Amino acid sequence: MRSKPLLLLDVDGVLNPSRRSSLRYRRHTCVVDGGLYKLLLDKRHGPLLLSLARETDAELVWATTWEEHANVEIAPRVGLPRLPVIQVTGDPVSSAGEHFKTRAVADYVNGRPFAWFDDGLGAADHDYLRAHEGVGDFLLVDVDARHGLDAGHLAQVREWLTRTAGAS
Ligand SMILES: [Mg+2]
Repeated sequence: MRSKPLLLLDVDGVLNPSRRSSLRYRRHTCVVDGGLYKLLLDKRHGPLLLSLARETDAELVWATTWEEHANVEIAPRVGLPRLPVIQVTGDPVSSAGEHFKTRAVADYVNGRPFAWFDDGLGAADHDYLRAHEGVGDFLLVDVDARHGLDAGHLAQVREWLTRTAGAS
């Protein structure tokens, strides 16, 4: 049986771009652990991601330093339900240049194919994942932090999952 693919989702630079690249984005503020955060969020993102997950029979999972706060502060504002959270903080030292989140992701995926929407990954992350036991097929979707997630990124993942992971 094919294992259900994962769609890994970052917040800053993906759902919350650094610029207001379109009028669809609305400004929000929230307080987390005493810190004030300003957000730009597009409420269409949730429905689009849920459609992608449904069409490809995949599971959406947070891969963000927001961790559980993403379920409280981000999900309701973009139209997503509560999602599973990969614990990514607590191990900031990198030996080979990979992002600290990449090690947490490698330990989490357990052979399941995954596509990862993030603005901070590069060749070191790709190499780390390729070499890591228990990591199967994956696609790193490089989102430009200035513009955030767009339809092209979603189409890229839809096409990849349809082709390589056997989704129909
Ligand atoms: Mg980011």
